[in-house]
Amino acid sequence: MAKTAFQLPKGTRDILPEEQPYWAHLNAVIREITDVYQYARLDVPVFEETALFQRGVGEATDIVEKEMYTFTDKGQNSITLRPEFTAGVIRSYIQNGMSSLPTPVKVWSTGPVFRYERPQSGRFRQFHQFNAEAIGDKDPVLDFEIMDMAFRLYQRLGFQKLSFQLNSIGCPECRPVYLGRLVDYYRGHTAQLCEDCKKRLDKNPLRLLDCKQDMCQPVIAGAPPIVQHLCDECNRHFKALCLYLDSLNRPYTLNHRLVRGLDYYTKTVFEVWAEGIGSQNAVCGGGRYDGLIELLGGQPTPSVGFAAGLERIVMMMQQQQIPVPGLPGPVIYFACQHQEAQKQALIYLSGLRDSGIAGLVGLGGRSFKAQFREANRRQARYVVTLGDTELGSSSVLIKHMETGDQETIQGDQLIRYITEHGR
Ligand code: ATP
Ligand code: MG
Repeated sequence: MAKTAFQLPKGTRDILPEEQPYWAHLNAVIREITDVYQYARLDVPVFEETALFQRGVGEATDIVEKEMYTFTDKGQNSITLRPEFTAGVIRSYIQNGMSSLPTPVKVWSTGPVFRYERPQSGRFRQFHQFNAEAIGDKDPVLDFEIMDMAFRLYQRLGFQKLSFQLNSIGCPECRPVYLGRLVDYYRGHTAQLCEDCKKRLDKNPLRLLDCKQDMCQPVIAGAPPIVQHLCDECNRHFKALCLYLDSLNRPYTLNHRLVRGLDYYTKTVFEVWAEGIGSQNAVCGGGRYDGLIELLGGQPTPSVGFAAGLERIVMMMQQQQIPVPGLPGPVIYFACQHQEAQKQALIYLSGLRDSGIAGLVGLGGRSFKAQFREANRRQARYVVTLGDTELGSSSVLIKHMETGDQETIQGDQLIRYITEHGR
């Protein structure tokens, strides 16, 4: 990139026209899949009051501790750019009385989210998420469906060898007992821990399990798995989910290190992995959060959801050369001798555009030869020549660029001609 007077803020990026076909395709697949699973779109604001995220995401999470874009607005309110969707979606669910709708309420959202992180490959400060939530029922069928929707998204996009990483992190009944065991175990290994983990031991012990530091890996490997400490209800829930995954041949690996960074998760947590993606940079994570809605001031309401990072998906689509439909080129290009011809071209083009046919007019002061070169470069299907001869007889000379065939037709027959010969 050139060194210019103004540069992108660190951690942000332009989505240039050449990358847009990936985004258009991805968004089209998201729309198709949310329809199939019967999720309705919900748009929430890009910013909310800071306290919503502090409460909803959790004080002891990386997001709230160090990643939020928080500022005081001119009315002295503390505002935060959304670092994720769930808290805003649940705020909207409560505020709009959606609990009176038939349950579950199934909604999806997409848009930019903001986290003050150290930028690196696949890690930005402004990025996009696709988020889905099924609110209002604790049935493990919904856990399966939300996982299956994520799975189908990657499948439809053409990713290979898809599988889930799966864990259950219990509920307020059984998790404290487990955390006691975990902390006991870790107390015996404090010398082998990174500085962050020493803090986590007191503040957020579950997060000890997803530490990425090399030195902590042996300690994690020996830690007791939480699934062996689930209460009866959590155990039944987990078994039912596994049964559905087995029945639908959805491959999964139990991963006792998978705990998710957000405090409100209960029971199911999962990620989707595919060939070449997942183990280093998650592309999609989700799970159940039966405690969140009450925490944010609603009635106790179980809920399950997931979020997928779209930049990471687009990067993988590019790396794996997954084909996407490109931007269609112009059907027709008008090569014009002079301004009078350009005026007539604009009149023809107006009619063509009314019929949804894409076209371009050659710009002033260029030879026919230069205009044909331009038409070729833009991959126009037809080139129309408009000069004195054609203007005199209200005709056009139209050339099919692929076959080289050309003929003179009346100008008012252009649409019929293109319809017959194909766009
Ligand atoms: P990570 O472990 O990579 O930090 P996370 O646990 O913070 O991920 P979530 O909060 O679950 O991620 O967000 C859901 C998805 O959003 C992730 O699976 C990932 O694809 C994407 N994501 C998260 N942080 C970033 C980022 N800084 N830049 C781009 N994508 C991101
Ligand atoms: Mg993160």
